Amino acid sequence: MGERPFLSSPLNGTKGLDAGRWVAPAEMLGRWAAAGRIGHAYLFVGPAGMGKRAAAGQLARLLNCERLDAGRPCGQCHACVLMTRNMHPEVLVITPSGATLKLEQVREAHQTLLLRPAVGRRRVGIFEHADRLTIPAANALLSVLEDPPAYAVLVLLAENGQAVLPTIRSRCHVLDFRPWPEGMLAARLEQETSAVPPRLAAALAQGNPGMALRLTRGDDLLAGRVRVERFLEETLSGASLNAYGLAADLESYTRDRQGTLDFLDVLQLCLRDLLVWRIAANPQLLINRDRMGWIAALACRHQPARLLRALSAAAYVRDAVRQNVLRRLCLDLLILRVVEGD
Ligand SMILES: [Zn+2]
Repeated sequence: MGERPFLSSPLNGTKGLDAGRWVAPAEMLGRWAAAGRIGHAYLFVGPAGMGKRAAAGQLARLLNCERLDAGRPCGQCHACVLMTRNMHPEVLVITPSGATLKLEQVREAHQTLLLRPAVGRRRVGIFEHADRLTIPAANALLSVLEDPPAYAVLVLLAENGQAVLPTIRSRCHVLDFRPWPEGMLAARLEQETSAVPPRLAAALAQGNPGMALRLTRGDDLLAGRVRVERFLEETLSGASLNAYGLAADLESYTRDRQGTLDFLDVLQLCLRDLLVWRIAANPQLLINRDRMGWIAALACRHQPARLLRALSAAAYVRDAVRQNVLRRLCLDLLILRVVEGD
């Protein structure tokens, strides 16, 4: 089976940069591996969906593939197959037990990482959600990094790099996973069979390859936009709104934390478009380009300041949901703030 560059080559760079200047972290890791310049510890930072875990897997394959081909893992040897199935004995994935990564988990991983590899070349310890280490666990990991095991490479993954101890950060090579340029993402999506046009999926995903894939694979994110549009029509007009009923309805519609975050993501994109249209009325600047008629009709009924306040409310509430504030409370607050926006 060939490589999956989309999943294994997240890009780092800044949205809007010329695609020609971009270098994929996986590609950079490949160059470093070919030059024998792989360090002992990496910290991959970026939002969910940006491909941090996939890049960690790619690094493990680079270090243990039995038939590297021009600096790329073959994807077919016994080692590659085992790694793809998360069954390779040298690759250790440490995920939070409950809400946090705990001291015992770090200690246990350390014992394994100290051992000489049995079948591969290097041991790889992938610490998922390294921004959720308990203080004792963080201190234990710090001492591992101060005296790194000779045969191991540690890869720490974090959505929030600032939540990782500075002393840990400073001992890692930090790779930032930033949004893909829209054209590059769309080009990659052309390879997927999808009911959603690649350009639209790339624009809606805002450079996040994980979200773009979910869109093209028939995830209900796009269908959710219909619900968001109805929500905006109801709340922005404000009059005779049954806020209690709407909050209850939305709570059951969004189902869980992730569903609520998805709803708020799409809500922010729609509000952003309403605001952009109200100010510039330029179709080229829209993300939801296929919904220009709806955007133009609603935007002209509301002042930019009103739309901006609604957008701020959506961003504020999204943060609250991310921090596990009770969903219903968040939705109540959202409705209240959008309705009384004037
Ligand atoms: Zn291989």
